[in-house]
Amino acid sequence: MSEDFLHYIWKHKLFNLHNLRTEDEQEVMILQEGFHNHNSGPDFSNAKIQIGDLIWAGNVEIHINSSDWFAHNHQEDPLYQKTILHVVWVNNKPVSDHLGNIIPTIILKGRVSNSLISKFDHLILNRNKIMCSDSLHTVNDFEISNWLGRLLIERLERKVLELQEIYQVTKNNWEQTFFISFCKNFGFKTNAEPMLALSRNLNFIILLKNKDDLFKLESLLFGVAGLLDGDFKDEYFTQLKKEFTHQKSKYGLQCIPSDLWKFGKIRPIGFPTLRLSQLAHLIHMQGNLFDSFVREFKIESNKDIPKVNVSSYWETHYTFDKESKFKKKPLGTKSIENLLINTVSPMLFFYGKEIGSIHHQELAIDLLEKLPAENNFILRNWSQNNIFAESASDSQSLIELTNRFCTLKKCLNCGIGKQILNK
Ligand code: SF4
Repeated sequence: MSEDFLHYIWKHKLFNLHNLRTEDEQEVMILQEGFHNHNSGPDFSNAKIQIGDLIWAGNVEIHINSSDWFAHNHQEDPLYQKTILHVVWVNNKPVSDHLGNIIPTIILKGRVSNSLISKFDHLILNRNKIMCSDSLHTVNDFEISNWLGRLLIERLERKVLELQEIYQVTKNNWEQTFFISFCKNFGFKTNAEPMLALSRNLNFIILLKNKDDLFKLESLLFGVAGLLDGDFKDEYFTQLKKEFTHQKSKYGLQCIPSDLWKFGKIRPIGFPTLRLSQLAHLIHMQGNLFDSFVREFKIESNKDIPKVNVSSYWETHYTFDKESKFKKKPLGTKSIENLLINTVSPMLFFYGKEIGSIHHQELAIDLLEKLPAENNFILRNWSQNNIFAESASDSQSLIELTNRFCTLKKCLNCGIGKQILNK
């Protein structure tokens, strides 16, 4: 038995209500079970309970053993003074309020069906990665898809909160907000931190002013990234450095430490040098990224991202001074999809909410529905349990479900868990 399960039983009244009586034999009727409180204080507030002839309004506290009242020091806490009912699994000690009056107590043990208890045990004690895997077949597809749809919106709403913070810091500057969010994802897992630092140190307007000159864009990005601090021999490096010296004093730019960038443990094709060159090329091609990917976004315009490449120097280099075989190094399809899923869709949703545009909010979801599902261990795990992600909207929902519910064992708060228990 767990306290969370007792909360669930009380909240959904999943116990025998017939002839419900307090320990001192007064008849009990639950008129309102109250609001589940997830913060400090009693478990349910604003409940309405008839005990004997009187109707009481106040709080309900729930414990496995009544003695937990003292173990949790509620007797000294003013928040518990308005407790009108103590709901326990086992009554092993009478409990009084601060005035010394016995708090009416009801016992749930013996009132909850064995089948519900065993379903709960089976769910929570299961050692599978997806604890409900044995019972998933009892939940119909419509209920699963409803729940996943809700989780997708919750995931977007959570990302909106992060974007709101950036939007405030940039003093409501849409272009800079998008640039910062885009750069963070453009660093992917390994170089997200320096990419973010770079975007915070470089006003997108400066890049926009230089958008027609790919060389200047590279000098700005490599320079603020701190990657022109080294002492390399190549002519291209020398020119970039010279150009950046001029840009740095013109715009008063601050560089980030070059040692933030990680080159180890990633394939050369993902080196930050190539990413910065691709970013410069993207700005060179698209100009105002916010307009292209948010304000005037059209789903078909995705096809423009695959044209993002590196400048000619980087076609024969992965780092300065080390020449390599000629190779085109476009941004890969998976990287593009990642950016569309993690940057463009949340930003469309945020923008739509901020300006009251349903069109942009719907576009955020349409985009996810049209993109292929991601492929990672979370999704492979679900597919082994016959839940397949058909699109990025499904994969995003399943990632949300896994991270926010399954991993934290929150089956009692999960739409699928509730269906399994309540059947
Ligand atoms: S949280 Fe939901 S989906 Fe995850 S294991 Fe529990 S019941 Fe299943």
